[in-house]
Amino acid sequence: MTAKRIDGKAAGLALREQVAVAAAEFQARTGRAPGLATVLVGEDPASSVYVRSKGKATAEAGMESFAHHLPADTSEEALLDLVVLLNNDDRVDGILVQLPLPPHMDSSRVIAAIDPAKDVDGFHPVNAGRLATGLDALVPCTPLGCLHLLKNELGSLSGKDAVVIGRSNIVGKPMAMLLIGESATVTVAHSRTRDLPDVVRRADIVVAAVGRPEMIRGDWIKPGAVVIDVGINRVAAADEGKTRLVGDVAFGEAAEVASAITPVPGGVGPMTIAMLLRNTLVAAHRRAGLADPE
Ligand code: NDP
Repeated sequence: MTAKRIDGKAAGLALREQVAVAAAEFQARTGRAPGLATVLVGEDPASSVYVRSKGKATAEAGMESFAHHLPADTSEEALLDLVVLLNNDDRVDGILVQLPLPPHMDSSRVIAAIDPAKDVDGFHPVNAGRLATGLDALVPCTPLGCLHLLKNELGSLSGKDAVVIGRSNIVGKPMAMLLIGESATVTVAHSRTRDLPDVVRRADIVVAAVGRPEMIRGDWIKPGAVVIDVGINRVAAADEGKTRLVGDVAFGEAAEVASAITPVPGGVGPMTIAMLLRNTLVAAHRRAGLADPE
């Protein structure tokens, strides 16, 4: 391996420590801690783990955590009623409705019901539009975490060729918007892209958000590129009956060519949660009429 392994765990921890300091300052100024409400509907095991760890991280950062757990057969109306309640609760700065919702619910309707000022996931169309037009927005946590790692690595991204693979509303599109905002030259690839390996070979920056285990091979990577692997894929391990996590990039191969690369796990994942805390802190400041924290 020649590439530097980008340590998202350490970067995430450093960010969480900064957020904790700023949260304590916010409390000293306003008399209350920033608050994050999480809403989990049903018993999906992965979602339960995510929500629990978000609640724990919130408390560790000295912020208030309000956890709401609703049964899987909750009506969409009842969920929307809870969202309205949280919109009107002054102690709540951030509202996170854990996705996916059960199939009888329309997640875009639920997201649209969240007050954009409390939309710490950054999924509300108002925040997507604000990001796209260069206004202050709450930005989706995962791409925000990727950008943080890229800037740590490269400093300025101005003029770099960036290829984002994936065009989802939660990762690919906001990632592209953030990179455009940093004056990178951005290509967004997806399942209909022709000659994907050739497209990726042009990139100084590769952000892979596809959801296909190890699809991006080492010989697609331009020598010296920085590779950010968003993918989280569970595959069978060599040990009978066991599984392991891999990214969308064939890590071993790509690490022979890239200058720096995020591992899976331990790369982008820990940044996502750190950015959720940071978004909650930012939302709290804006709601209190204070300037954004450093
Ligand atoms: P989506 O399934 O919503 O989007 C996947 C994107 O990849 C789509 O735009 C799709 O194209 C594209 N794609 C699929 N197959 C190919 C292909 N063969 N060639 C090129 N492009 C392809 O996924 P998400 O954006 O939600 O997530 C992507 C990955 O990131 C997943 O592994 C997910 O688990 C992970 N993730 C990790 C997070 C973290 O905290 N680390 C947070 C969020 C997601 P098209 O639009 O044409 O269908």
